[in-house]
Amino acid sequence: MNDVTKLFGSNVFNEQAMKERLPKDTYKGLKETMETGSALEEGIANIVANAMKDWAIEKGATHFTHWFSPLTGTTAEKHDSFITPTDGGGVIMEFSGRELVKGEPDASSFPSGGLRSTFEARGYTSWDPSSFAFVKDNTLYVPSAFYSYMGEALDSKTPLLRSNQLVCKESLRLLHLLGMHDVNNVTTTIGVEQEYFLIDRALYERRKDLQFCQRTLFGNRPPKGQELDDHYFGIIKPKVKAFMQDLDRRLWALGIYAKTEHNEVAPSQHELAPIYTNTNLAVDHNQLTMELMRRTARDHDLVCILHEKPFAGVNGSGKHNNWSISTNTGINLLEAGKRPSENKLFLLFLAAIIRAVDDYQDLIRISVSTASNDERLGGNEAPPSIVSVFLGSDLEAVIDSIINDKDMIPPITRTLQGGVNSLPHFLQDTTDRNRTSPFAYTGNKFEFRMPGSSLTIAEPNIIINTIVAESLSHFCTYLEQNGTDEATVDKLIKETFTKHQRIIFNGNNYSAEWVKEAEKRGLSFLKTTPEALSHFLDDKNVQLFAKHRIYSAIEINSRYNILLEDYNKKRRIEAYTMLDIARKDIMPAVVRYTTDLATAIRSKKDLALDVNTRLDEGLLARISEYGEYLYLGVDRLQEAVNDAEKIPDRQEQANFYAETVTVAMQLLRDTVDELELLIASSYWPFPRYEKLLYSLD
Ligand code: ADP
Ligand code: MG
Repeated sequence: MNDVTKLFGSNVFNEQAMKERLPKDTYKGLKETMETGSALEEGIANIVANAMKDWAIEKGATHFTHWFSPLTGTTAEKHDSFITPTDGGGVIMEFSGRELVKGEPDASSFPSGGLRSTFEARGYTSWDPSSFAFVKDNTLYVPSAFYSYMGEALDSKTPLLRSNQLVCKESLRLLHLLGMHDVNNVTTTIGVEQEYFLIDRALYERRKDLQFCQRTLFGNRPPKGQELDDHYFGIIKPKVKAFMQDLDRRLWALGIYAKTEHNEVAPSQHELAPIYTNTNLAVDHNQLTMELMRRTARDHDLVCILHEKPFAGVNGSGKHNNWSISTNTGINLLEAGKRPSENKLFLLFLAAIIRAVDDYQDLIRISVSTASNDERLGGNEAPPSIVSVFLGSDLEAVIDSIINDKDMIPPITRTLQGGVNSLPHFLQDTTDRNRTSPFAYTGNKFEFRMPGSSLTIAEPNIIINTIVAESLSHFCTYLEQNGTDEATVDKLIKETFTKHQRIIFNGNNYSAEWVKEAEKRGLSFLKTTPEALSHFLDDKNVQLFAKHRIYSAIEINSRYNILLEDYNKKRRIEAYTMLDIARKDIMPAVVRYTTDLATAIRSKKDLALDVNTRLDEGLLARISEYGEYLYLGVDRLQEAVNDAEKIPDRQEQANFYAETVTVAMQLLRDTVDELELLIASSYWPFPRYEKLLYSLD
């Protein structure tokens, strides 16, 4: 299909398909549910299921599945066919409302963080009518929430939907207090920029570390890395272009707004940015995008690597989360407008966000905490794990004038034209780009840059929605008690900016001075996942979630345990993979090479007494020295893992992995990387960085 407008959404049971196939009343009821999250009327489900099934069968579907996001970091599905036996020994294709609405997968093999020790193993999936069903691989996919027998969330969608509902409720409360009674719905939108690496499949298959851990555990950066900046936005190579085109078409068929694709900073690194949409749909779309990236790569004999830091010494991959909030009447509440200092609505929402980020720096950090993202956060290219907000000079001036009761000098509108008369004139953006800030205002939205490339993007959005709603709720209570006249609103805005000014930082987040400055300001600096997670259950956090019914105490406890367990498992797998490679591949290579060197030295000496073997002997001595470090390093890492595995408490085990095991891993890596520099390429047991990173040339 060459017509993209026809291809787009062709495999989605979207509004157009619903309109065509559902009776008017059913469509209206369903749309109401989709837009406002209201409960679905009984009776509607049967009609929708039948229409969905007929539509899906026309698209080639024979099966259906509930499609959900258990806390494994990926999605889950269980396929059932539509067939129902008939009397004559034949079948008809059926799909009931009950099957659409509810599924009962066996929940016992999904992570529950202890929920199941107290409750039944049974889990339910439940249709999420606010996302769209779609057909893929001859199967009708029904986006679903996943929860336990007692209604505890076992997935990331359920709390995300709760948080969407919450932020809508508190926003409406505020808008109605301010007299905006025409607004009856507020939604958050996100645009999720996805970074990834593409490498040759045959090379990948020779790297156990990439296969088991999705990152290299050994390897020196190549002689040429990213220092020439020649890859960023560079010409897209034909193999990569073919992959991107294929991917785009698959994404478009599923109604995903794939828009921008370009090369990223590191060699072999790329980015895909979709056009933003409502948060629930965008989260589902991002899960599908990651899956289709992997699959499409495979079909092109490539591998798509979504790990945050697959290669040391070059940039890692993130997933920038552009977040905004708008009303059903078309107002983007983060749109500063021409005169931000007079735009009270904007200032209130800005103040709410600044307060939220300041009060819950730890939760923001926790929402992106994984073993793989720890390899990236704080690296040279990623925002450090200190949370701050970037506003840009114009907005900072506005806030400064509010805090200090100064008159606001209207910002001068600058036109840009590059000094060439024939180039069109542009109005300069009100915010410059600050690529180092973890939470940057980028003109009508905030860009949260800490999430890692492989993260389920629901997690940070659950947190952002919840903490912003908490600020809004606080503002509402204040205004309800003190009145909503202009002076009171101004006072609230001023007090909030004054109290939370410390979280605003417009400078270079990568500099050493910022770490010192942040410490002076009393900002939290949680360096590793275990350190961050140790604050998840702090009273203020548990209370926040309970107050707004995002997580019950039981749910947050289960999530904390799942996250810790995931961290420990990932580190354990990495350590074991390292040990395996070091013992089975590196050690034999070292032995082979040193034996050959020794034989060469012996035969040279046998040949002639005066032959110079200084090079051979020097090399042999050097390698033997590192060979010994290798031997010791392997023992040391093995001991460290053994010790870690003996620790019964999950948090303490995680701390030990972060503080001790990773150090032993780094030492072993340093030794092996040194050996890689000394040993001939033909003896090295697997492809090196220069091959991996330049495999698609
Ligand atoms: P930048 O160049 O500053 O990164 P872009 O316009 O390229 O900004 O947008 C980056 C991402 O932000 C895109 O995915 C885009 O769809 C998304 N975005 C733009 N406006 C909004 C919005 N109102 N809400 C959420 N995301 C948005
Ligand atoms: Mg961006």
